[in-house]
Amino acid sequence: MEGCEGRAAFVLLLANRLGVMRIAGGKLGGYRAGAFLLFAMLAGAAVSAEPVPAENVAQLLDDTESVKTADYASFIRQLHELENRTSELSESQTWRLRYLEGWQAAYIGQNDKAKPLLEAVIKQGPDSGLRIKATSVLINLLGVEHHYKEAFEYLDHALENLPQLNDAEARAHILGEASQLLTEAGQYDLAAAYAKQIIASYPSGRYNCLGHLYELDAAVLGGKASLPDEVFQDALDRCLSIHEILPADTIRRDMAIQALQQNKLDKALSVLEGHYEEVKQISYSQLTAEYEVLLAQAYWNKGNAALAQKYASATVDIASKSDFIDPLVKAYQLLYQIERQSGNLRDALAYHEKYVAADKGHLDDIREKALAYQVVKQQVETKKIELEELNRQNQILELQQALDHKAVVTSRLYITLLLTVLASIAFWLYRLKRSQLRFMRLARRDGLTGIFNRQHFVEEAQQTLRYGAKSLRGACLVLIDLDHFKDVNDTHGHVVGDSVLRQSVAICQQHLHSSDVFGRIGGEEFGILLPECTIIQGLERAEQIRLAFQATASDEPGSVALTASFGVASTAHYGYDLRRLLLAADSALYRAKRDGRNRVVISMDEQTPRAAASADGSKPTDAHPYANSPE
Ligand code: GH3
Ligand code: MG
Ligand code: MG
Repeated sequence: MEGCEGRAAFVLLLANRLGVMRIAGGKLGGYRAGAFLLFAMLAGAAVSAEPVPAENVAQLLDDTESVKTADYASFIRQLHELENRTSELSESQTWRLRYLEGWQAAYIGQNDKAKPLLEAVIKQGPDSGLRIKATSVLINLLGVEHHYKEAFEYLDHALENLPQLNDAEARAHILGEASQLLTEAGQYDLAAAYAKQIIASYPSGRYNCLGHLYELDAAVLGGKASLPDEVFQDALDRCLSIHEILPADTIRRDMAIQALQQNKLDKALSVLEGHYEEVKQISYSQLTAEYEVLLAQAYWNKGNAALAQKYASATVDIASKSDFIDPLVKAYQLLYQIERQSGNLRDALAYHEKYVAADKGHLDDIREKALAYQVVKQQVETKKIELEELNRQNQILELQQALDHKAVVTSRLYITLLLTVLASIAFWLYRLKRSQLRFMRLARRDGLTGIFNRQHFVEEAQQTLRYGAKSLRGACLVLIDLDHFKDVNDTHGHVVGDSVLRQSVAICQQHLHSSDVFGRIGGEEFGILLPECTIIQGLERAEQIRLAFQATASDEPGSVALTASFGVASTAHYGYDLRRLLLAADSALYRAKRDGRNRVVISMDEQTPRAAASADGSKPTDAHPYANSPE
C-alpha cells in the first residue's frame, strides 16, 4: 500500500488539501491545522493512479473512500454517483455513504452540515470501525472549532471502546487523534503512550511512521526530552523508506526545536536550511511557517539579525494569512527584538503590540485546551467513582441476596429436617399403635378360631349385661359343649380336631346377630351372650344352632358326625350377674349331657335348672359339676 504512492501524488494531495484548508481557515489555530492535515493523510487508503469505474456499489464505495484525499475531484464525482444510487445500497452501505458525506462536508469546512452526519454515524453506525473513523473526523472538526471539551469527550468515549475495536486502521486513527490532541493539551506523557500503541500495532509502514512522529512531537514539544540523534534518524528512516515526506520534514522540525533548546545553533540551521526548499515545495504552509520561524530564531541566537529578520518577516507573511498563531507569536516577538536592537523603536513598539495581541489569543487557546482536558478528565474520574460506587452497591446487594437466599435455604433445610423427624415420629407412633392394636387383638382373640377368648368374652359379656341391666331388656347366656369331642381327636387326630373346632365356630357364627357376644371359653366349649332376648327367644336361637350342628352329621365314610349340647340361662331368672348366669347355664349344659347330649336345656332357677329341649326328649339326670368362677 505504501509503495504505490509516488511523491508527485503526495504533493498533489497536499496541494488539494491546502486549498481546502484555506477555505476552512477562519479560526484555525496553531497545531490543529497540522493535525487535521495529518489526519486526512491517515484517512486516505491506497491510492490508485487511475480509478477503475465501479461495477457495483460496494466497489464504488471502496473506490470513493480510497481516492478521497488523493483525487478530490474523482471523490466528489463518485460521491454524487453514490447519492444517485442510494436505492442500491444496503443499510450498512448507506451508513458508509453518510460517513463519506460527513467527511466531505468537514473537508470543505461545512461544519454545520458535517456534524449531524458524523454524529449520526457515531450513534447509529453499524460497525465500530466506521463509528471510530467518524469520531476521528468529528474530533478534528471540534478541535478546528476550538470546542476542545467536546473533542475530549468524544475522544474519551472512543478510547473507552477501543478494547472492543477489531478494525486495526480505525484503531490507528483514534490513537493518532488521541496522541495529537493530548500533545496540544500539554499531556505529553499520555500522548507519547498512545503514539507507542500505534507503533506497537504497526511495526512498519505509514502508521508506524506517524506513530514515531507523534511520539517525537510529544517528547520535543513537551520540552522534557533530550533525545539522541539516533532516535530522530530512526524515525526519519522509517518515514523516508515509504516516501512519507511531510512526516519526515515534521520530524526534522522536531530535531531543530531540540537543537535550539540545547543551543546547538549550527545543527539546527543545517537541518532547517537543508530541507527548507523541500518544505516550501510541499506547499504545506503551516510547516513552512514553522521552519521559517525556527530559522529566524536560530539566526537571531547566532547574532545574524539580517537573516533573522528575513525569516521572521516570511513567517508573518504566511502565518498571518492562515492564522497559524504559534509561529506568528514567535515571529512578532523576534521582529520586536530585532527592531529594538536596531534602535527602530517605533517599529519595535508596533511589533510588540502585535506580539502581545497574538500571544494573548495563543495563551487563551492553550489555556482552553488544557482546561478542557482537565474538565473531561475530572468528569471521567467522577464517572469512574460513581461507577465504582454503583458496583460496590451492587456487590453489597448481591451479597445480601446471597445471604437471604442462604437463610431461606437453611430454614428450608430446618423445616425439611423437622418434617422428616415429625414424619418419622408419626410413622413410629403409627407402627407402635398398630402393633399395640395387634397385640391387643391377639390378647383378646383365641388363637385357633379367631373369636374372643375366655377372658375377653367375660369382659364383653359383663359390659353388655351392664347396659342390659339399665334398659331391663333382658339377655340370655348360651353355653355350648361339643359332644364326644375326645373321640374326634382320638379317631381323626388333633389336626382334624382343630379343624372341627373352627368349623363349629363357623356354624355358630352363621346364626349370630351383630350384637351377640361370642367366645371360646374352654377346649371345645363356647359361650354366646344374646342381648335383648327373652328366655323363649334364647331357647329358639340355641335350638337353631343345635340343629345346624346336627345337620353336619352324614353317613359318608371319613366324615365327622358333630353334635353339641346347650345350656341356656336367662337374666329373667338369674339377674344380670354373669357369674350366676354362667353357673346356671353350665348347670343346664351338664344336664343336657347327662340327658343324652345333642340337646338344649334351659335353666329356670338356681336350684332346679330344667330341661327345655333335646334330640331324644330324655330328662336330665346328673348334678351340676361346674362351680368355678367365670373369670
Ligand atoms: P362329652 O363332652 O360329650 O362328655 O365328651 P367329650 O369327649 O367332649 O369329653 P370332654 O369334654 O371331657 O373332652 C374334651 C376333649 O377335647 C379333651 C381334649 O382332648 C379335647 N380338646 C380340648 N381342647 C382341644 C383343642 O384345642 N384341640 C383338639 N383337637 N382337642 C381339644
Ligand atoms: Mg368339654
Ligand atoms: Mg365335650
